[in-house]
Amino acid sequence: MSETNDDVQSDGETDHKFDECPTCGGELQYQTEADAECLNCGEVFCHEVRTDRHLLWDYDDLGWMRGVVARA
Ligand SMILES: [Zn+2]
Repeated sequence: MSETNDDVQSDGETDHKFDECPTCGGELQYQTEADAECLNCGEVFCHEVRTDRHLLWDYDDLGWMRGVVARA
């Protein structure tokens, strides 16, 4: 169903950060370890670190997590 990203390697890298906005490709700025805001479109995302993977969550206007928009 979902696209695979074969050029993203997850092993050995524990402090990966998403630095590109999945919506517009702008630069993400991290307020905290987990909270990122796009400098271009102003969207906010939550970076969740699981055991061996990194997920980037999207918020809707009410602040609810909408879904995973990027993973590594
Ligand atoms: Zn953006």
